[in-house]
Amino acid sequence: MRDYSSHVERRDPARDVSITSLDACVVEGNFEWNLIKVETDAGVTGIGEAYRGGGVPELVEYTNRFLVGENPLDVERLVRYIFQEMSGHGGTTGKVVTAASGIEIALLDAAGKILDLPVYQLLGSKYRDEVRLYCDCHAGEAYAVEDGATAYADAEAYSPEAYAAEAARVTDMGFDALKFDLDLPADNDPDPYNGRLTNAAIAEKREIVAAVRDEIGDEIDLAFDCHWDYSVESAKRLAYELEPFDLMWLEDLVPPENMAAQTEVTKATRTPVATGENRFRVFELTDLIYDHGVDVVTPDPTTVGGLTETMRIADRAEENYMPMSPHNVCSPVGTMACVHLGAAVPNFDLLEFHALEVPWWDDLLVREEPLIDDGVIQVPEAPGLGIELDESVVDAHLLDVNATGHRVSDSSHE
Ligand code: MG
Repeated sequence: MRDYSSHVERRDPARDVSITSLDACVVEGNFEWNLIKVETDAGVTGIGEAYRGGGVPELVEYTNRFLVGENPLDVERLVRYIFQEMSGHGGTTGKVVTAASGIEIALLDAAGKILDLPVYQLLGSKYRDEVRLYCDCHAGEAYAVEDGATAYADAEAYSPEAYAAEAARVTDMGFDALKFDLDLPADNDPDPYNGRLTNAAIAEKREIVAAVRDEIGDEIDLAFDCHWDYSVESAKRLAYELEPFDLMWLEDLVPPENMAAQTEVTKATRTPVATGENRFRVFELTDLIYDHGVDVVTPDPTTVGGLTETMRIADRAEENYMPMSPHNVCSPVGTMACVHLGAAVPNFDLLEFHALEVPWWDDLLVREEPLIDDGVIQVPEAPGLGIELDESVVDAHLLDVNATGHRVSDSSHE
C-alpha cells in the first residue's frame, strides 16, 4: 500500500509543527452542521466544516490514529493520506471524502494561522475582494427540516403568489440572485416513481417561474432546483418551457448517476443547466465537464474533497470555458471557506447562501457586523479562514445524541 505518511527529514524549525488532535461536533442549524477542529502544537487551532449529516464525527475521530504527529502544513498530502488509509472504508467516495473535506478546510485554517496568510493566498491568487451570493429561498411554509429530515408542506404552500412574495422579500434584503425549489407535490401525480411530469405539472411550474420573474424583473439572477426528480423527456420538456424566462440555471433535473442522460438534457435546451453537488472528487465530474454535459458546475467543497479538490474541478471547468458556483448549505465556517475559494478561482461565479431560516447564523462567529451585506461577503484578510467561533453559541446549539447516535432532545432553537 502506498505510504502517505511523512518521509521528509528537513524543514525549517518554525514550520516543523504537529497535529495533536482532531475532533468534530454537530451544530443543529437548519441542517446538521459538522464542525471540525484540528489542534496543533504551534499554538493554533484550525476550524473546518464537512457537509451535513451523520457519520462524520466518527470518521474524524478515526483519523486521530494516523494524523496525530503529522505536519498540518502538508494539507494536500494529508488528504491523500486519509483517502489511502481509509480506502477500504469507502475512501474514494462518500462520507470518508466528506469528512476529509472538513479536515482539509481545518488544516488550511491552521496552516494560514501558522504562516500568517489568508486561505485564499494558500490556494494561489486573489481575483476578487468580495464574493457574490445567491440566496436559496423557500416560498411561504413550503419547506422545513424537522429532526434532521426534510418536511414538505401540503400543495397550497406552493402558490405562485407565495413564491413571488418571498422573492420580493429576499431581494429587498439586498440579494440580486435567488434560487427556489421547483420540485412540487404535483410531480407525484399520477405516479410518484416514474419521473414523468404531466402537462399540468409543467404548467404549474411555468406559472411559478413567471410569477417570480414578473415580481423581480429581468435584472435579478434567478435559478430553480429540481433535486434529481425527472425522466429525460420530462426534464427536456420542462427546460424548453422555461426558456422564455432567461434563468440563471435549472439545477439537477435528472438523477445524478447517468452522465449521458445529464448531457442529453443539457444539450437539448438553451436554459443553462447546473449539477455537481452530489459528486465526490474531481474524477466524478471530469467527464461531465469535458463532455459539456453541464453549463454551470456546482460542486460542494465540503463534500467533494475540500478546497484544493474543488480548485481541480474549477481548473477543468475553466479549460472548458465553464463557470463554477459551489453548492453551500453550511454554517458560517464552511461558507467562509467557500469565500476564500471564490477569491482564488478565476471562473468562480457566485456562492449559495442557504440559511435565511437561522436567525443566529451570524452569531456563531465573534464579529461586530453581519457576515453578509447587500448580497456579498467580503474576503477576509486575517490569517487562515479569518474567523473566530463563538463557543457559547456553538454549545447552545450542539446536537445532543446518545451512544447509538439517536437525538436525545431538541436543542434550544431561537
Ligand atoms: Mg441543489
